[in-house]
Amino acid sequence: MEFNMENKVVVITGAARGIGFAIAEAFAKNRATVVIIDIVAEAVEKAVSKLESSGYTAFGYIGNVTDSAGIEALFAKIIQTHTKIDCLINNAGITRDNLVLRMKEEEWQMVLDINLKGSFICSQKAFKHMMKARCGCIINITSVIGIMGNAGQANYAASKGGLIAFTKSCAKEFASRGIRVNAVAPGFIETEMTASLSDEIRAEYAKVIPLQKMGSPLDVANLCLFLASDSASYISGQTIAVDGGLTMH
Ligand code: NAP
Repeated sequence: MEFNMENKVVVITGAARGIGFAIAEAFAKNRATVVIIDIVAEAVEKAVSKLESSGYTAFGYIGNVTDSAGIEALFAKIIQTHTKIDCLINNAGITRDNLVLRMKEEEWQMVLDINLKGSFICSQKAFKHMMKARCGCIINITSVIGIMGNAGQANYAASKGGLIAFTKSCAKEFASRGIRVNAVAPGFIETEMTASLSDEIRAEYAKVIPLQKMGSPLDVANLCLFLASDSASYISGQTIAVDGGLTMH
């Protein structure tokens, strides 16, 4: 998919691998200045050199999305270095699956902290800069689980459902400042997060997905590209699923 992202600074959290890396690669291919934030230094370096070796412009920073002071300092550094943030993609996310009766409070808290509070923290810091610029866009990577719920994933579903509500509230709060906020809800995407699923579970999922297959990280990246582009300038507050038709409203 081709969009002109030249001169756009795009910050993507959790982008050292998986869906986040595919998003970074897609934006870099479209000539954006890509800024990767992830938690493990080695992974960040590897991701940046992979993009650079393909001839793209990318920068990497180590950051934990739950560390408010650290993210504030990091965003100030990004502004200082790259002058602006046109688009923030809150992609960092984890799962700690368990049935509700067996779920430890730490499992609940960790997922809510990274998936939901982390997105709030990064958004808050980005909004401050975007408000001054009176433009910008934020894309929150939620999940179909945040729409449908899932047995064994109550913490993850609550975090991703919360992220959808957060998206709508921010879209209303910042619309008058020219800032758009949308959510992308991937279905079952081939990444390390889903690599551990057994063939049996994969076959079960394929039965309920109208397009009868799992998606690729690029499918998600393509929607992010569109939402960040000027072609989506009248779209805000939406949650768009990339799920082969699994969820339909
Ligand atoms: P992934 O491969 O596990 O990548 C997530 C990245 O986020 C990892 O590099 C991870 O670092 C990083 N991260 C974790 N905690 C962080 C923190 N506190 N601060 C900064 N970075 C952190 O996951 P993915 O499958 O690509 O998923 C990306 C997003 O899409 C997530 O929000 C996920 O919920 C959502 N999603 C995925 C699917 C799917 O099928 N894969 C479906 C629906 C939604 P570590 O390597 O150190 O953990």
